[in-house]
Amino acid sequence: MNRPVYWKSSLQDIGQAVQSVKKGKASLLCQSAGGRDIYLFEYGKRNVIKHDANYSSATGAKDPKYYADKTGADYTPTVLLVGAVHGGEFEGTVALLNLICLLETGFDLAGRENRELLAATEQINLLLIPCLNVDGRARVPFDAFLGVDYQTFRYYSQGTWLDGSLCEWPQCKAKHPIKEHVQFLGSYFNDHGVNLMHDHFFFPMAEETKALLRLCDERVPDITIHFHGGSNTTSTFLQTSYVPAFLNQRTYDLAQSVKAAAMDRGCDALFAVCPEQANNSAFPPASFNLVSACSHINGEVCIVYESNQGLAMENAFTPEQIYQILQITITETCQYAKKICRQRKKGSGI
Ligand SMILES: [Zn+2]
Repeated sequence: MNRPVYWKSSLQDIGQAVQSVKKGKASLLCQSAGGRDIYLFEYGKRNVIKHDANYSSATGAKDPKYYADKTGADYTPTVLLVGAVHGGEFEGTVALLNLICLLETGFDLAGRENRELLAATEQINLLLIPCLNVDGRARVPFDAFLGVDYQTFRYYSQGTWLDGSLCEWPQCKAKHPIKEHVQFLGSYFNDHGVNLMHDHFFFPMAEETKALLRLCDERVPDITIHFHGGSNTTSTFLQTSYVPAFLNQRTYDLAQSVKAAAMDRGCDALFAVCPEQANNSAFPPASFNLVSACSHINGEVCIVYESNQGLAMENAFTPEQIYQILQITITETCQYAKKICRQRKKGSGI
């Protein structure tokens, strides 16, 4: 399938965005296992957050304000958006590169306006990582899975075992790090074979994981979204395992807002609302993963957004549909972050 003009997701495209930034700021977040640069883009006023205690200790003292006091009049709601935690899940990268272009020029990469999205980002401190897993991204020789067949998708996403057979999902998680067990290392993994989503969080293995957790700890974003691709699933949030119920409730509330906004635009079929709570009592248990870890380091909402990837299979979204629902999600996320902060200042929120 021909990809539209705005469908940019390569490491070169990110490099060009770094060069183009004038209104915002681009900086090096860290380098990957393979020595590649990972960039953070930032817009809006940064908060200076002083930690009197880490989050665990502050909650032990029965007040998260000892970790991060966000009740000051000048506090700026903060949103962190992370693309391509799995390198071949390009959709978030596309949305973030278009957002950067929109913030810089007033137009996205197709030359289109989106005043609603721009308005939503006003008075927000926006932190954007277009591609966290640059090593995995470098292993995929194209910019989209749009119209691609299942075998090709699986090959470039999860790779092949030593006997050449496809590493299927979720068996691709049965070996970690996977590097010594594969013939072709899929884009799921960094160059050391680490799946960032399932790093060893008490002793993080990957620099990418450490840098992301550090950012979450320093900046304490009110909402963090990690953009993933989920084959041809209807785009959705996944509930985060093992976090306090009020955070699951926020995820659910935000999902309802996205659904309502999509309905207003006649495209509510593009988004499925997640369950109200995570199922933390299931067996085998759900994994404590990267979003759980981000949430536990700062006590705030961190969500997986699972995008449709437009594969040549049932329920394929068009590129425009994939992009549209991502834009709506980002708009609603920024508005919801402002709402949480307003409630907190009024003393009516948690
Ligand atoms: Zn993923």
